[in-house]
Amino acid sequence: MLTTNVEMHTVYLPHPCVLCGCHQGQQPERCVAVWLYDDEVSIGDVCPECVEAGPSGAAQQMRERAKDLRELSDSLERLANEVANVEDWVPIEELRAAKEASTEMRRKVPDSGPF
Ligand SMILES: [Zn+2]
Repeated sequence: MLTTNVEMHTVYLPHPCVLCGCHQGQQPERCVAVWLYDDEVSIGDVCPECVEAGPSGAAQQMRERAKDLRELSDSLERLANEVANVEDWVPIEELRAAKEASTEMRRKVPDSGPF
């Protein structure tokens, strides 16, 4: 059975919301968090917006997130099919040579200093 619980932590570690997937950023007040459990198993952090939305509102946000993820998945699958057939693929040696040339150019540029 899923349950939520308010928890206090001594250190805030930013986690994306396990329900809607939003990134909550660094907020010191977030040392107080709502955590989702499946029986005794910790599932993850629930953002304040999902807490405020309540179970049905949070579920709706999750459905929208699932739809976005399906669309992203379809897009990645289509792109993967096209990438598999790219004929003009840069060889890794060309990338390595360009990086070496770039490093060499930076070594030759004199440091102008603070003035
Ligand atoms: Zn959320």
